[in-house]
Amino acid sequence: PTDLNALCEEYLRLAYHGLRAKDKTFNASFSAELDASLGLVTVVPQDLGRVLLNLYTNAFYAVQSRQKAEQGQTSSYQPTVTVTTECVGNEVRIRVRDNGVGMPESILTKIFQPFFTTKPTGEGTGLGLSLSYDIITKGHGGTIEVKSREGEGTEFIIELPA
Ligand code: ADP
Ligand code: MG
Repeated sequence: PTDLNALCEEYLRLAYHGLRAKDKTFNASFSAELDASLGLVTVVPQDLGRVLLNLYTNAFYAVQSRQKAEQGQTSSYQPTVTVTTECVGNEVRIRVRDNGVGMPESILTKIFQPFFTTKPTGEGTGLGLSLSYDIITKGHGGTIEVKSREGEGTEFIIELPA
């Protein structure tokens, strides 16, 4: 039994400060919108932590990429990553949303495959989302889905049996 809200929030902070440690110029806002009625949920906390850490790292990377692309242009771009938790019937839903570069439709079917990455060599292994898929589906009997628009942002939605 795990306090999922605390896990979602702690790993978000961890991911942000991890990236900031590598790149002091990186700045983004992040927030957690947590459903107080969630209670304790039975999960493997280390595994769910790995999933969250990868989703957050991907999200911050996506906003950072967009920030770099918009540099020099007159832009009021505000990089933001948000995690939301909700209790929906017998399920717990976790959403991780960013307003980063987004993805073209052509890669959405590939991102959960092992070794698929669009990152430069050394920056990504392409294993994060395939591992996450296994942890959520096989490990927890849940689902993980993605919605994305190129140039606008991305949302990952995890549903777990409560
Ligand atoms: P890695 O992060 O090592 O590349 P992942 O399995 O975590 O591997 O992600 C695979 C690919 O999915 C990324 O390289 C990127 O192209 C895409 N991706 C994942 N999350 C996002 C996101 N939030 N915004 C844009 N693209 C993303
Ligand atoms: Mg990743």
